[in-house]
Amino acid sequence: METVFLGIGSNMGDEAANIGAAIGMVEDLDGATVLRVSRLYESAPWGVSDQPMFANAVVEIATSVPADSLLDALQAIEQELGRRPGPRFGPRLIDIDILLYGSEEWDSDRLTIPHVRMLERDFVVTPLLEIDPDVRLPDGSQVTREHVKHGAVTDILGLVPGFEDRAVAIDAHERSLGHRHRQNEDWVELCAFGDWLTNSMKAQSAPDVSFLITVFEAERIPFAWDPYPPQESFNPYGFSAKFKLMVPSVFQARASRLIDEVAKAEIDWTDPGLSGA
Ligand code: AMP
Repeated sequence: METVFLGIGSNMGDEAANIGAAIGMVEDLDGATVLRVSRLYESAPWGVSDQPMFANAVVEIATSVPADSLLDALQAIEQELGRRPGPRFGPRLIDIDILLYGSEEWDSDRLTIPHVRMLERDFVVTPLLEIDPDVRLPDGSQVTREHVKHGAVTDILGLVPGFEDRAVAIDAHERSLGHRHRQNEDWVELCAFGDWLTNSMKAQSAPDVSFLITVFEAERIPFAWDPYPPQESFNPYGFSAKFKLMVPSVFQARASRLIDEVAKAEIDWTDPGLSGA
């Protein structure tokens, strides 16, 4: 399995839907899994400038498909989407580029990896760094903004439809309840701290809840507390209040599965191996 970054752009029709559909078709390929998806960024057209604005996103996938076969598959997706019924679409209905393929380098007639102009394009570098701030080039150097020259990002259009659960761009401040209605999302109560304490033998103390939260953070699931986060020193017997753990409804199923996994994990907090000593 290699970790591969794809750059996807569209400037015709419903750009967000086109990009969502393309990522869906990547997900359906044999031997490919979509891991992380950036937000949709608007950028000014480059080259020919009298055309509509572009929407762009970067996607991280894990795949066992070799790079040249992957290019074939991506070109088939571009053609398939371009052939969709409806108004006559131009060639930029969807454009999919392989930006990085693990630490492999390619230089053939039809495939250059890393993609030759990726570091110059704001609409590539910005979403790429959003989903992986530590991303490296095959020579081991870190991707930075220093070579960005054109394709300036002009707006953030929101999450890619159908892949909201793979988004990573959740700012810490958005976790606070005041920002709970980010992008008109519905937030739902996942569990109440008090309920979880009484209903599960496995979750008996604030550290358990803290552990759950580290899992959510690792999995990039946004969360919020109502009325406010339980403290490390929280004494469950001293409080009658319930602390609701909230997540956006699109994350509910994934978050619930993680809670079950954490509850089943039988973490032994007395295990010295866990103390980090
Ligand atoms: P375009 O769709 O205009 O961006 O360019 C598509 C052409 O770029 C195709 O002929 C590909 O063979 C070629 N190409 C070279 N390197 C790459 C790459 N890393 N990802 C996608 N297409 C590539």
